[in-house]
Amino acid sequence: MSIRENLLRLTGRIERAAEGAGRDPKSIQLVVVTKTVGVEQIREAIDCGVKLLGENRVHEALEKQAEIGRASVEWHMVGHLQSRKAKQAAEAFDMIQSVESISTAEALDKRCGVLGRSMPILIEVNTSGEEQKYGVSLEGAESFIRRVARMRPLRVEGLMTMAAFVADPEEARASFRRLRELANELATKNIEGASFRVLSMGMSNDFEVAIEEGATMIRIGTAIFAE
Ligand SMILES: *Cc1c(COP(=O)(O)O)cnc(C)c1O
Repeated sequence: MSIRENLLRLTGRIERAAEGAGRDPKSIQLVVVTKTVGVEQIREAIDCGVKLLGENRVHEALEKQAEIGRASVEWHMVGHLQSRKAKQAAEAFDMIQSVESISTAEALDKRCGVLGRSMPILIEVNTSGEEQKYGVSLEGAESFIRRVARMRPLRVEGLMTMAAFVADPEEARASFRRLRELANELATKNIEGASFRVLSMGMSNDFEVAIEEGATMIRIGTAIFAE
Protein backbone atom coordinates (compact mmCIF):
# COMPACT_ATOMS: atom_id res chain seq x y z
CA MET A 1 0.00 0.00 0.00
CA SER A 2 1.16 3.52 -0.69
CA ILE A 3 1.48 6.20 1.98
CA ARG A 4 -1.47 8.00 0.42
CA GLU A 5 -3.64 4.90 0.56
CA ASN A 6 -2.59 4.18 4.12
CA LEU A 7 -3.40 7.73 5.16
CA LEU A 8 -6.81 7.53 3.47
CA ARG A 9 -7.59 4.27 5.15
CA LEU A 10 -6.38 5.62 8.49
CA THR A 11 -8.52 8.73 8.16
CA GLY A 12 -11.54 6.52 7.55
CA ARG A 13 -10.78 4.48 10.65
CA ILE A 14 -10.34 7.63 12.75
CA GLU A 15 -13.68 8.97 11.51
CA ARG A 16 -15.49 5.72 12.23
CA ALA A 17 -13.99 5.43 15.71
CA ALA A 18 -14.87 9.05 16.50
CA GLU A 19 -18.40 8.78 15.19
CA GLY A 20 -18.93 5.51 17.04
CA ALA A 21 -17.92 7.31 20.23
CA GLY A 22 -20.16 10.29 19.49
CA ARG A 23 -17.18 12.58 18.90
CA ASP A 24 -16.30 15.02 16.15
CA PRO A 25 -13.43 13.50 14.09
CA LYS A 26 -11.98 17.01 13.79
CA SER A 27 -11.35 17.00 17.53
CA ILE A 28 -8.65 14.37 16.97
CA GLN A 29 -5.27 15.48 15.65
CA LEU A 30 -3.04 13.03 13.83
CA VAL A 31 0.66 13.11 14.72
CA VAL A 32 2.52 11.17 12.05
CA VAL A 33 5.47 9.47 13.74
CA THR A 34 8.41 9.48 11.35
CA LYS A 35 11.22 7.99 13.43
CA THR A 36 13.42 5.83 11.17
CA VAL A 37 11.38 7.00 8.14
CA GLY A 38 13.31 8.63 5.30
CA VAL A 39 12.90 12.16 4.04
CA GLU A 40 11.28 11.12 0.75
CA GLN A 41 8.53 9.26 2.53
CA ILE A 42 8.01 12.12 4.93
CA ARG A 43 7.67 14.52 1.99
CA GLU A 44 5.09 12.21 0.49
CA ALA A 45 3.08 12.30 3.72
CA ILE A 46 3.32 16.10 3.83
CA ASP A 47 2.08 16.24 0.23
CA CYS A 48 -0.97 14.29 1.41
CA GLY A 49 -1.76 17.05 3.89
CA VAL A 50 -0.04 15.86 7.05
CA LYS A 51 0.55 18.79 9.43
CA LEU A 52 2.15 17.25 12.54
CA LEU A 53 5.24 15.05 12.65
CA GLY A 54 6.53 13.14 15.67
CA GLU A 55 10.17 12.22 16.18
CA ASN A 56 11.83 10.47 19.09
CA ARG A 57 15.44 11.63 18.69
CA VAL A 58 16.63 15.22 18.61
CA HIS A 59 19.51 14.55 16.24
CA GLU A 60 17.38 12.65 13.75
CA ALA A 61 14.78 15.42 13.77
CA LEU A 62 17.42 18.09 13.14
CA GLU A 63 18.84 16.17 10.18
CA LYS A 64 15.41 15.83 8.61
CA GLN A 65 14.54 19.45 9.29
CA ALA A 66 17.64 20.52 7.42
CA GLU A 67 16.05 19.02 4.32
CA ILE A 68 12.35 19.47 4.93
CA GLY A 69 12.31 22.75 6.82
CA ARG A 70 10.05 23.99 9.57
CA ALA A 71 7.47 26.04 7.72
CA SER A 72 5.00 23.50 6.36
CA VAL A 73 4.70 21.20 9.38
CA GLU A 74 4.98 21.16 13.15
CA TRP A 75 7.59 18.91 14.71
CA HIS A 76 6.74 17.20 17.98
CA MET A 77 9.18 15.39 20.25
CA VAL A 78 7.48 12.18 21.36
CA GLY A 79 10.42 10.12 22.65
CA HIS A 80 12.38 10.11 25.87
CA LEU A 81 14.27 13.38 26.32
CA GLN A 82 17.42 13.52 28.42
CA SER A 83 18.23 16.83 30.06
CA ARG A 84 21.52 17.09 28.17
CA LYS A 85 19.55 17.08 24.91
CA ALA A 86 16.98 19.58 26.11
CA LYS A 87 18.86 22.62 24.86
CA GLN A 88 18.77 21.39 21.26
CA ALA A 89 15.22 20.16 21.67
CA ALA A 90 14.10 23.64 22.72
CA GLU A 91 15.16 24.84 19.30
CA ALA A 92 14.16 21.86 17.20
CA PHE A 93 10.57 21.27 18.27
CA ASP A 94 7.20 22.99 18.27
CA MET A 95 5.93 20.82 21.10
CA ILE A 96 7.57 18.42 23.56
CA GLN A 97 5.13 15.64 24.38
CA SER A 98 7.36 13.66 26.71
CA VAL A 99 8.29 15.85 29.69
CA GLU A 100 8.64 13.64 32.75
CA SER A 101 11.72 14.75 34.66
CA ILE A 102 12.37 17.96 36.54
CA SER A 103 15.94 18.24 35.28
CA THR A 104 14.75 18.08 31.66
CA ALA A 105 11.97 20.58 32.36
CA GLU A 106 14.49 22.94 33.98
CA ALA A 107 16.85 22.66 31.03
CA LEU A 108 14.01 23.37 28.60
CA ASP A 109 12.85 26.28 30.74
CA LYS A 110 16.30 27.82 30.78
CA ARG A 111 16.89 27.45 27.06
CA CYS A 112 13.44 28.68 26.05
CA GLY A 113 14.05 31.68 28.29
CA VAL A 114 17.28 32.46 26.43
CA LEU A 115 15.53 32.00 23.09
CA GLY A 116 12.63 34.15 24.23
CA ARG A 117 10.13 31.55 23.15
CA SER A 118 7.36 29.70 24.89
CA MET A 119 7.12 25.94 24.51
CA PRO A 120 3.92 23.93 24.58
CA ILE A 121 4.52 20.69 26.44
CA LEU A 122 2.67 17.57 27.50
CA ILE A 123 3.45 15.64 30.65
CA GLU A 124 4.16 11.96 30.03
CA VAL A 125 2.36 9.76 32.52
CA ASN A 126 3.06 6.09 33.13
CA THR A 127 -0.48 4.72 33.16
CA SER A 128 0.42 1.06 32.81
CA GLY A 129 2.63 0.77 35.87
CA GLU A 130 5.24 -1.04 33.77
CA GLU A 131 8.70 -0.31 35.10
CA GLN A 132 10.30 -0.03 31.68
CA LYS A 133 7.92 2.74 30.66
CA TYR A 134 8.84 6.39 31.08
CA GLY A 135 6.50 8.87 32.66
CA VAL A 136 5.53 10.30 36.01
CA SER A 137 3.30 8.12 38.16
CA LEU A 138 -0.43 8.77 38.40
CA GLU A 139 0.04 9.66 42.07
CA GLY A 140 3.01 11.93 41.42
CA ALA A 141 1.54 13.78 38.44
CA GLU A 142 -0.10 16.67 40.28
CA SER A 143 2.94 17.74 42.31
CA PHE A 144 5.18 17.34 39.25
CA ILE A 145 2.88 19.49 37.13
CA ARG A 146 2.65 22.16 39.83
CA ARG A 147 6.44 22.51 39.72
CA VAL A 148 6.69 22.55 35.92
CA ALA A 149 3.76 24.95 35.51
CA ARG A 150 5.76 27.57 37.42
CA MET A 151 8.43 27.51 34.69
CA ARG A 152 7.08 30.39 32.67
CA PRO A 153 8.24 29.59 29.13
CA LEU A 154 6.77 26.10 29.40
CA ARG A 155 3.03 25.84 28.79
CA VAL A 156 1.51 22.61 30.02
CA GLU A 157 -1.26 21.82 27.52
CA GLY A 158 -2.12 18.29 28.53
CA LEU A 159 -0.98 14.73 29.13
CA MET A 160 0.60 11.97 27.06
CA THR A 161 0.86 8.25 27.67
CA MET A 162 2.02 5.03 26.09
CA ALA A 163 -0.05 1.98 26.95
CA ALA A 164 1.55 -1.41 27.46
CA PHE A 165 2.30 -3.33 24.26
CA VAL A 166 -0.45 -5.91 24.15
CA ALA A 167 -1.90 -8.07 21.43
CA ASP A 168 -5.46 -7.08 22.25
CA PRO A 169 -6.02 -3.30 22.13
CA GLU A 170 -8.84 -3.71 24.65
CA GLU A 171 -6.14 -4.29 27.23
CA ALA A 172 -4.88 -0.75 26.66
CA ARG A 173 -8.28 0.76 27.48
CA ALA A 174 -7.67 1.00 31.21
CA SER A 175 -4.46 2.99 30.63
CA PHE A 176 -6.23 5.48 28.38
CA ARG A 177 -9.13 5.82 30.77
CA ARG A 178 -6.75 6.53 33.65
CA LEU A 179 -5.11 9.31 31.65
CA ARG A 180 -8.46 10.91 30.84
CA GLU A 181 -9.63 10.66 34.44
CA LEU A 182 -6.38 12.20 35.65
CA ALA A 183 -6.74 15.09 33.19
CA ASN A 184 -10.34 15.68 34.26
CA GLU A 185 -9.31 15.71 37.89
CA LEU A 186 -6.36 18.05 37.33
CA ALA A 187 -8.52 20.40 35.26
CA THR A 188 -10.69 21.06 38.32
CA LYS A 189 -7.67 22.31 40.28
CA ASN A 190 -7.06 25.47 38.27
CA ILE A 191 -3.29 25.13 38.22
CA GLU A 192 -1.87 28.37 36.87
CA GLY A 193 0.19 27.81 33.74
CA ALA A 194 -1.39 24.43 33.00
CA SER A 195 -4.37 23.29 30.98
CA PHE A 196 -5.43 19.77 30.18
CA ARG A 197 -7.06 20.03 26.78
CA VAL A 198 -4.65 17.68 25.01
CA LEU A 199 -4.69 13.94 25.59
CA SER A 200 -2.01 12.34 23.41
CA MET A 201 -2.66 8.61 23.44
CA GLY A 202 -3.07 5.78 20.98
CA MET A 203 -0.69 4.31 18.40
CA SER A 204 -1.14 2.10 15.33
CA ASN A 205 -2.39 -0.90 17.24
CA ASP A 206 -4.66 0.77 19.75
CA PHE A 207 -5.75 4.23 18.50
CA GLU A 208 -9.41 3.32 18.07
CA VAL A 209 -9.69 2.41 21.72
CA ALA A 210 -7.82 5.61 22.61
CA ILE A 211 -10.31 7.66 20.57
CA GLU A 212 -13.17 5.99 22.39
CA GLU A 213 -11.52 7.00 25.66
CA GLY A 214 -11.08 10.64 24.66
CA ALA A 215 -7.75 11.00 22.82
CA THR A 216 -7.34 14.41 21.17
CA MET A 217 -4.02 13.46 19.57
CA ILE A 218 -3.03 10.05 18.26
CA ARG A 219 0.54 9.16 17.28
CA ILE A 220 0.76 6.83 14.29
CA GLY A 221 3.80 5.45 12.46
CA THR A 222 3.53 1.81 11.42
CA ALA A 223 0.01 2.02 9.97
CA ILE A 224 1.23 4.72 7.56
CA PHE A 225 4.76 3.70 6.65
CA ALA A 226 5.06 -0.02 7.23
CA GLU A 227 1.90 -1.55 5.83
C1 LIG B 1 6.96 4.93 17.57
C2 LIG B 1 6.06 5.70 18.44
C3 LIG B 1 4.70 5.88 18.11
C4 LIG B 1 4.07 5.26 16.88
O1 LIG B 1 3.94 3.89 17.04
P1 LIG B 1 3.35 2.96 15.87
O2 LIG B 1 3.00 1.71 16.56
O3 LIG B 1 4.42 2.83 14.86
O4 LIG B 1 2.15 3.66 15.32
C5 LIG B 1 3.93 6.63 18.96
N1 LIG B 1 4.44 7.21 20.07
C6 LIG B 1 5.72 7.07 20.41
C7 LIG B 1 6.21 7.72 21.65
C8 LIG B 1 6.57 6.32 19.62
O5 LIG B 1 7.86 6.17 19.98
